[in-house]
Amino acid sequence: MNIQVLGAHNCESQNSRLISLLIDDTLAIDAGSLTSSLSFSAQQRLKAILLTHQHYDHIRDVPTIAMNFALNGSTINIYSIQPVYDALATHLLNGKLYPKFLEQPQGNPTIKFTIVEPYQTEQIEGYNILAVPVNHSDPTVGYQVTSPDGKIAFYTGDAGPGLAKCWGHVSPQLLITEVTAPNRYKEFAKEKGHLTPSLLKAELTIFRELKGYLPPVVVVHMNPRLEKEIEAEIATVAKALNNSINLGYEGMQLHL
Ligand SMILES: [Zn+2]
Ligand SMILES: [Zn+2]
Repeated sequence: MNIQVLGAHNCESQNSRLISLLIDDTLAIDAGSLTSSLSFSAQQRLKAILLTHQHYDHIRDVPTIAMNFALNGSTINIYSIQPVYDALATHLLNGKLYPKFLEQPQGNPTIKFTIVEPYQTEQIEGYNILAVPVNHSDPTVGYQVTSPDGKIAFYTGDAGPGLAKCWGHVSPQLLITEVTAPNRYKEFAKEKGHLTPSLLKAELTIFRELKGYLPPVVVVHMNPRLEKEIEAEIATVAKALNNSINLGYEGMQLHL
């Protein structure tokens, strides 16, 4: 399994993109930077997009990729929980902001949307997919992705403290999670459902106690303006836990 980090940040600029992961060129998780990062031909190779939650930095390119598929006469499969479907249908693809790609063209809509149920395994394009709820300010699921050859990665999506239950359901060889801000933003992070380096350390300590191991960790969703501070604090956590914890970046390639 090859995972490419297309967007690793929570703010966009010329040098930072919103969250998107690309797995083996066919499966995407979150759509913060799918059209801004991928050529038209690379977009057409996508077979499915999994969305963790409805926040704009994670769904931003759903309308633009739908338009590209619509104009090409093709369709795209999108998977997520019911609240994400509702948010897209009500606020974005509602015929006012943009076309109703969830319903049109009638009988063969551009977006084939499938509701995923938490804790139920789904076969999606040959991958075994498990959606696992995490704590965030709106309903959010992380996705465990198992490739046809048995490689396992888990991406939490945006997540705050309280991941113990989630850890009980996953056994990844690679963990991709979030650290939005440095330690001095602890109260903000707890209130909004995000992690700081020290909050991540606590969650990883629980992971190790529960599972008896700790996989390599890649963190994404950093605020670019605070990234230097986050990087230094993550290095301290990695040393304390004696584990590989790296900051993701646009173009990063992860091989399993
Ligand atoms: Zn969010
Ligand atoms: Zn976010």
